[in-house]
Amino acid sequence: MNYEPVIGLEVHVQLKTESKMFCRSRNAESSEPVRHASGEAVADGPNVNICEICTGQPGALPVINMEAVKKAVMVGLALNCKIERYSKFDRKNYFYPDLPKGYQISQLDHPINGRGELEIIVDGKVRKIGITRAHLEEDAGKLIHSGGFSLVDYNRAGTPLLEIVSEPDIKTSEEARVYLQELQNIMRYLGVSDADMEKGHLRCDANVSLRKVGENGLPPYKVEVKNMNSFKAVASAIEYEIKRQAEVLQSGQTPKNETRGWVDADSTTVSQRSKEESQDYRYFPEPDLPTLEFTEEWLADLRRRLPELPKARQVRFMADYNITKKDAVQLVAYKELGNYFEQVMSELSEWLVVDKAGDGNKFGQVALNWILGPFLSALNEKKLLPDECKVTPENFAELVKLIMQGQVSNLAAKEVFTKMFETGEDPSVLLEDMGLTQVSDEGVILDAVRKVLAENPKGVEDAKVKGEKAFGFLVGQTMKELKGKGNPQVINELLKKELK
Ligand SMILES: [Zn+2]
Repeated sequence: MNYEPVIGLEVHVQLKTESKMFCRSRNAESSEPVRHASGEAVADGPNVNICEICTGQPGALPVINMEAVKKAVMVGLALNCKIERYSKFDRKNYFYPDLPKGYQISQLDHPINGRGELEIIVDGKVRKIGITRAHLEEDAGKLIHSGGFSLVDYNRAGTPLLEIVSEPDIKTSEEARVYLQELQNIMRYLGVSDADMEKGHLRCDANVSLRKVGENGLPPYKVEVKNMNSFKAVASAIEYEIKRQAEVLQSGQTPKNETRGWVDADSTTVSQRSKEESQDYRYFPEPDLPTLEFTEEWLADLRRRLPELPKARQVRFMADYNITKKDAVQLVAYKELGNYFEQVMSELSEWLVVDKAGDGNKFGQVALNWILGPFLSALNEKKLLPDECKVTPENFAELVKLIMQGQVSNLAAKEVFTKMFETGEDPSVLLEDMGLTQVSDEGVILDAVRKVLAENPKGVEDAKVKGEKAFGFLVGQTMKELKGKGNPQVINELLKKELK
């Protein structure tokens, strides 16, 4: 029997704010070290970013962090969510040592962001993944188990989290991976989170179940998989579950409702517990916090100030720089590389205006080929961000210019680039020093062509009779005459002209 997967993702995003969700303690995930008034840095350690509110002392009252609310709404706007004019917080009760209050403040029936959708492209096809909701809540602390006892660190307790719940619209592990990557990208463009999965800024739980092909309803069971800390792990865990559940179904049984954990080392999922229902949490409205109500003006203002998102940037890059869609998609997926490309293009455009260079249209694609090719490989190899490397956008633009002007062959340009990446030197200087300047001067090349033709009457005859191959001999001779530095295109053109 054939089955198809029904997949929904729950993504937790740590919001980058100065302070925690409901108190003034520092958000432990901020990367800057905390400083005294004297400017002296205080080392981070466990339980330093805490107060009576986030450790749940009796009588302590929470206050809503508006910065977190604003960032949550920005995400809602980016995901085309219906921003709820009225939303409220609720207590989700459960007992665990990393949760000092004995409940988590979350949002149950009136989340800040309602229905939305995210468009993804998988194998060239556009897919719309529904967003059920994106609500605000607080994170728990951390338990550290070591040497037969457990330690608790409340630095993370009470830090703001945005939980983004998708509709069960995802059909393959690849769609799940692309959806997550797109979400990560949006968080980074919005600047609301670093969204690094390995560091836990972005955490994903996957709900996976199977139904018979052709059926429409939701399957009668649901398996939640946790503990994946990379895009690859999410895809592998989903693949594993699809296979496991198909085997259970084929044996005539129904898979259990349960929460399973991904074990990266073994590439398997293991049962952790039976799945909780929401009534197990005895939700009730948080009595210590007011409801949130937004005015149209506030929302309109936030919408106006939303930064450019990946999709819009992709469209703009294609129009402004005449680059292919495939390349534009790859470029915007890496925000910093897109920024670098724009700086290079701005250098080039200044030069295009000043020098009135001919085919300005092609510069974008040539620059991009070099950025997505040799530049990106070199960055990856050295594990550097674009603005951390020694090649300035100015020098990069200079190299592109030299290539476009025919002053350096593609092959020689690669040598120059390698050296630029090591030393940060100016490409024109390197070209001179390395003796790689290409000869494109028509006068110089014409002299060489005429000399070769005069010295090779047989070659000239052959070229006229036999064509291509014999013509190549003359090109080779001319190149030799120019010590390998002649511009092959110019040599070809002039030879053809002279042979007529
Ligand atoms: Zn606190």
